[in-house]
Amino acid sequence: MATSHSAAPPRRARRMALGAVLLAVALTLAGLAGRWAGDAATAKLREAGAQRLDGYAVSLDNLLSKYEFLPGTLELNKDVIALLQRPDDGTLRNEVNTYLEQLNRRSGATTIYIVNLQGVTQAASNWRAADSFVGDNVAFRPYVRDALRGVPGMFYGVGTTRGEPGYFFAKGIFYEGRMLGVATVKVNIEQLEKGWEPGADQVLLTDAHGVVLLSSVPEWKYRTLAPLTPEVLRELNASRQYFLHALSPLGLRELRRLDDRASIVTLPQDERAPVLSQKRSLAPRLWSFIYLSDLSSARASARNTFAFALLLQALLLMLVLYARQRRRAHSQLEVMVAERTASLQQMTQSLSEEIRVRCKAEEKLRQAQRELVQAGKMAVLGQMAAGITHELNQPLTALRTMSDNARVLIERGRLEDASSNLSTISQLVARMGELTGQLRQFARKADASLTAVPVAAAISAALFLVERRMEQERVSFRMSIREQDVHALCDSNRLEQVLVNLFANALDAMEAMPNSALRELCVNIGSANGRAVITVQDSGPGLPAAVRAHLFEPFFTTKPQGKGLGLGLAISEQIIREFGGELRVEAATPGARFIIELPLAQQGTA
Ligand code: ADP
Repeated sequence: MATSHSAAPPRRARRMALGAVLLAVALTLAGLAGRWAGDAATAKLREAGAQRLDGYAVSLDNLLSKYEFLPGTLELNKDVIALLQRPDDGTLRNEVNTYLEQLNRRSGATTIYIVNLQGVTQAASNWRAADSFVGDNVAFRPYVRDALRGVPGMFYGVGTTRGEPGYFFAKGIFYEGRMLGVATVKVNIEQLEKGWEPGADQVLLTDAHGVVLLSSVPEWKYRTLAPLTPEVLRELNASRQYFLHALSPLGLRELRRLDDRASIVTLPQDERAPVLSQKRSLAPRLWSFIYLSDLSSARASARNTFAFALLLQALLLMLVLYARQRRRAHSQLEVMVAERTASLQQMTQSLSEEIRVRCKAEEKLRQAQRELVQAGKMAVLGQMAAGITHELNQPLTALRTMSDNARVLIERGRLEDASSNLSTISQLVARMGELTGQLRQFARKADASLTAVPVAAAISAALFLVERRMEQERVSFRMSIREQDVHALCDSNRLEQVLVNLFANALDAMEAMPNSALRELCVNIGSANGRAVITVQDSGPGLPAAVRAHLFEPFFTTKPQGKGLGLGLAISEQIIREFGGELRVEAATPGARFIIELPLAQQGTA
């Protein structure tokens, strides 16, 4: 008990530690798998985003390059040159205005205008409009300043007149090697936005400072990717590049930088949904396109892969546990089989032990039986000794008296009396001899060999010995043979002895009823249950129960002194028993019926 108590907690702790390690490993692996899937999906998004960015860059380039050459063509127009030389010529101005108006319409530009060396607009395509550029001083605009310095100007800005954004191209107008003014073309690039469908993905065009020029989300326009430094803000205010717009930061937050062209960022409107931000620089304009891809599909893919990997590992673990369980069950079965076999062996052992004990007990029992038989014999011997003493005492006393008398008679010379005395003595001795002879019979061992004895013949032989007496006593004899040729396995002489004994007893019994009309001795031969059956019945007085109880005991007799010894039936019963048969008695009406059963002999048995 104590050991199991102290052993259990460490085992449980070990199991828990193992479980924790397994869980950690499973989570790590699933995390790696999820990350890998997320990265793969992100890489795909990046590829698609890069293609989109290329597309946007090409379309912007196409748009701008269409107008880039336009300012240069204006110095080829004679009227333009002339107007710059004679700015007060009203007719000329009208002509140039009209020309610019037509050119503007044909080229699809927003506004085309001409500025003198002081930065004042001399003619403009929008000359008819109320807020026409004509007369405006745009010297502060960087593209104008650049062009006046002889460098072609390019600039994106929000118009100060109408607040409309545009891309400005400016180039000096030269005549005979001298600059007369600046030709300017304003292009509306907002038309690009029309192709940017609002959706999950966003596209932005930013300038060199990160100010959003174009955006698929209208609210993001003129916001900045990052807060601007005070110097930049000052510079932008001076050029009024974005006119009145506040230029507040968009609030993008970089979560992870993938490389210098891509990072994972969050937008202020949903901090929990990171997006992939990709950038494409547009040399030589220092602008950039920014493409924001929705990462939810990649994140879903990562999540799914994570869950799937966890599930897969759980499945694997279950498989392993199942296999282990089966193996354990198998070995348990083997242990059970071994245990059963062992207990069976034990049972067999104890059974054979029991068998041995029983055999011993049986042997003891047999021994006891033998001893009992011996004891029984001793008891019979005791009875016999008492009987013999009783039987011999009387004749012996008589013998003594008579022999004493004979001696006296001879001394007195009465020889005749002495002779009669001596003959009585001789009779007494003969009787004693008879008694001892019968005793010898009783004590005789069953050494006779058994043969097939024809029962009818044995009965005839026995009958021969009592025939004379039957005649004298007028007893009729009846024999019924139910079965012919019945042979019994026994000794013929001794069977005859038994039969004579039974016949004599029957005659004695009938003699005791001299007045009875019916005097009959019936013998029956048959067989039953594989045994020869002989019945001897008389018409005598029969057997009272008290007599029947002691019939086969030695020295039991009801006959008067000197008539019966009481050994006949005892000897007969012993003889029949030695043959393996049985002698018994039944009450009959009238008389008594004795039944002898003997083993049947196969005919021809020697
Ligand atoms: P014994 O004939 O010397 O008396 P048995 O052993 O032959 O001795 O018989 C014992 C007794 O059984 C007889 O004394 C008699 O009383 C009784 N007995 C035997 N046979 C008959 C019979 N057929 N009918 C009546 N009594 C019988």
